[in-house]
Amino acid sequence: GLHKEKHSYQSDVARLRKIVINSLYSHKDIFLRELISNANDAIEKLRLTALTDKAIWDGGEPLNITIKTVADEDGKGARLIISDTGIGMSADELSTNLGTLAKSGTSDFLAQAENSAVDGTGTGNLIGAFGLGFYSSFLVADRVYVASIPPKSAKNPNPVQNVFSSNADDSSFEIFPDPRGNTLGSHGTEITLFLKDDSIDYLDNEKIKALVNKHSSYSTAFPVYLFSQTTEEVPDEEAIVAAAEAAAAAEAEAAAAKAAKSAEEQDADEAIVEDEEVEPETPKAPEQPLTKFVTVDDWIHLNALPPLWMRDPKDATDEDYELFYTAFWKDYNKPLSWTHFSGDSESGTSFKAIIYLPSKMDEEYWKQPLAYKSDDVKLMVKRVFITSDLGEDVLPKWAAWVKAVVDAEDLPLNVSRETLQSTRFLRQLKSIITKRILQLFNKLVDEDNEKFKEVIDVYGSIFKLGAVEDLKNRDKLMSLIRFTTNQRNYTSLDQYLENKKQGQKQIFYLSEMGKSTEDLAQSVFVEKLHARGYEVLLLNEPLDEIFVGNLRQYKNVPFQDVAKAGLKFGDEDVEKEEKEEKELATERYAPLLVYLKEHSKDVVRDVVISNRLVASPCAVVADTYGYTANVQRMMSASNK
Ligand code: ADP
Ligand code: MG
Repeated sequence: GLHKEKHSYQSDVARLRKIVINSLYSHKDIFLRELISNANDAIEKLRLTALTDKAIWDGGEPLNITIKTVADEDGKGARLIISDTGIGMSADELSTNLGTLAKSGTSDFLAQAENSAVDGTGTGNLIGAFGLGFYSSFLVADRVYVASIPPKSAKNPNPVQNVFSSNADDSSFEIFPDPRGNTLGSHGTEITLFLKDDSIDYLDNEKIKALVNKHSSYSTAFPVYLFSQTTEEVPDEEAIVAAAEAAAAAEAEAAAAKAAKSAEEQDADEAIVEDEEVEPETPKAPEQPLTKFVTVDDWIHLNALPPLWMRDPKDATDEDYELFYTAFWKDYNKPLSWTHFSGDSESGTSFKAIIYLPSKMDEEYWKQPLAYKSDDVKLMVKRVFITSDLGEDVLPKWAAWVKAVVDAEDLPLNVSRETLQSTRFLRQLKSIITKRILQLFNKLVDEDNEKFKEVIDVYGSIFKLGAVEDLKNRDKLMSLIRFTTNQRNYTSLDQYLENKKQGQKQIFYLSEMGKSTEDLAQSVFVEKLHARGYEVLLLNEPLDEIFVGNLRQYKNVPFQDVAKAGLKFGDEDVEKEEKEEKELATERYAPLLVYLKEHSKDVVRDVVISNRLVASPCAVVADTYGYTANVQRMMSASNK
């Protein structure tokens, strides 16, 4: 018998499969998108590997994905078979890739899915946030059979076609050599889903077509073909021959009858003149159809349209852009916004591009924003994927999170990264992309205030980082930043300057990391300014102190910390009046000041009369050149 190796699933996989099977019932459709995406990845891998190893694929055999539905006569044994001519998997790879969780995101999914099952919010919208990959097969199948063969290579000179087989309710899977032998050719994978009774509607080709169109057509670079059988009316050779024979026989019979008749007539009365020659009735051949109906096998090309970035933006809907985004970057959160354009670099390379702003930034980004690398900018040449290893070459660091696809017309298909850098194309692309991102943000400011608030919530800190880091675009980035002030929310620096009081020559701010803006607004430092109608920026984010410290001014108006000395109202009359008031008070309270200085000399440098407070009796302030209370608190904490 066949030697079947039995393996147990990694415990996380068993949990995941349970959740998938039990709770995502209403999202069953996604299985097809996931399997096609895997097939596409596998072919991409084959093509990229073949760039350096021609033995793997010489460019000859077609690279494609096929889908076929099968059912036995009695409607039982419904199967959906998805095959690709990709990189395939060895027995070991079948076991590690399909039997363990490769993706870190999947374990996050598990934790969240289990929580939401407990608190009753359901896993429905979680599906939107994660791709579930291969395991989504079990949404529609009670048994899955994966036959696969890797290409011949130095490491694997005699590849064998193996099968991975698993039932939906098993906690184990089996791997064994395919009893059919090698049916897949030189490399590829064939996934057979034995459809559950409640999923036999996937046998319907129209349903498959609609799903592929919706979820996979923009993102699948390689052709997807659907096997279809149609009934066609064709000439029936046999019937035609039979009919011809019958006609010939009838003619011969008629001719014989005629000959007999004329002989008879001559014999009888030669004087009789015939008025009309009466043809003897020709016996007709029995009516028979000359065509027949046959079943014809056909492969329908499902993703024949050009990819989204190659199309005219006028022909694409928002939904097209959203579906493409999800399928292409496997980000299941809808993008915040996007821009689709074509251009020419100065070096003469024309290209088309779509840039997306994700609605959630990769959490990794803020861990090390200046060292962050992603592979989310995809460079294509004439629709064929070339590289995503571009990083800083096409994006400034503050924008390293952008997701973009760029398709260049005039680059050679085998272009290497080094060649790319020497073409100047990347440098020019960088400035074009940066400009487009800033334009997109500005468009949102101008056109869609609500959307811009969402943008600020996600990207507010990015603008601050960019303003510090990107000298060339500093002003543009600074103008995008929004602040909460004692007077309002989402205030830009330009709006702040418009709202300045007469004579005001500073941009006032109070900064304390981690405090709420409400608390900052209550601060003794703010209350006096507030009472007199001045606007104060309330800064509480990690980047804020670096931002004001680094930039010092906006449009030549300096930032001024209201907790530090150096604050000027610029309102001369009031200032003079206040000065006199202050001198008077200092005289009047001289004994108190002496007393307080004496009793607090170990804690403070000086005790003075102030006119900066309204409701609070006293405040401790830092010198202009000293540390702010905030920094001092951090210092003393670290000295402990
Ligand atoms: P992901 O695609 O995110 O890695 P999946 O669960 O979809 O997660 O797939 C797991 C792994 O199984 C893939 O990374 C790949 O290595 C392998 N795999 C899945 N489908 C195929 C296929 N059709 N051909 C080759 N390898 C595949
Ligand atoms: Mg996948």
